[in-house]
Amino acid sequence: MKIILLGAPGAGKGTVAKRLTALDGSVQISTGDILRGAVQAGTELGKEAKGFMDRGDLVPDSLIMGIMEGRLQEDDCKSGFLLDGFPRTIPQAEALKALLAKLSIKLDMVVDIQVPRDVILDRLCTRRTCENSQCQAIYNVKSMPTKVEGICDKCGSKTIQRADETEAAISHRLDTYNEKTAPLVGFYSTEGIMKTVTGTSSDAVVEAIKSELGM
Ligand code: AMP
Repeated sequence: MKIILLGAPGAGKGTVAKRLTALDGSVQISTGDILRGAVQAGTELGKEAKGFMDRGDLVPDSLIMGIMEGRLQEDDCKSGFLLDGFPRTIPQAEALKALLAKLSIKLDMVVDIQVPRDVILDRLCTRRTCENSQCQAIYNVKSMPTKVEGICDKCGSKTIQRADETEAAISHRLDTYNEKTAPLVGFYSTEGIMKTVTGTSSDAVVEAIKSELGM
C-alpha cells in the first residue's frame, strides 16, 4: 500500500504505520525517526535540524525534501510505504506530488487521524521513547510501561522523555500542526483520495484503513 498518514503529533500515526507494515511488507517512513537518528549520529543533517526540533518547530522544507527524494527511491519502497509525519506543509505536499509523478508512483490514500487535543496532550506528556536511534521503541508510563522502569524491553537501552515532549513544546507543536499541516486535508480532498478517521484507538484506525483498501 502507498499511504500518507496525517494527524497531529500523538495521534498514533507511528503505531498505526507499524501495524500496517505487518500486513503487506510496506515500509514505514517516519521523517521524525530519520531526523532523530541524524541528531544522535551527529551528522550535518542532524546538526542543522536539532535546534528546530528541540523548539518544536518544523525543519525547513528543503532539508526534508532532500531526505525524502532519496528515501522514496530506495528498493524497499517498491513493496509500498506508509508516510508518517511527511508531508507537513503545503510546499512539501506539492514537492511530493511532483516527485511521485516523476517516479510514476500513485498514492492509494491519505488518512487523517483525528484525536481530541486533551487526549493528545496527556498521551505525549506520558510518552517515553527508546534513546537508541536504531530502535526508537515507544512506551507510555500509564498505558504501556516498560517491564523495568526506564529500560527498553526490546533492546535494553534507556527510555527517555524527548526534549520536544515537555508540555510547552507539545503545545507549540500542536499549534504548528494546526497552522501548517492541517491545511493538507484540503489539499488532498481536492485530489479525491482523502479519508478521515476519528478515534483514539489505533486498532479502530487500522480496521478502517483495511476496510477502505478492501483488505
Ligand atoms: P515527529 O516525530 O514526526 O513528531 O517529528 C519530530 C520533529 O521532527 C518535528 O517536531 C519537526 O521538528 C521535525 N520533523 C519531522 N518531520 C518533519 C517534516 N515533514 N517537516 C518538517 N519537520 C519535520
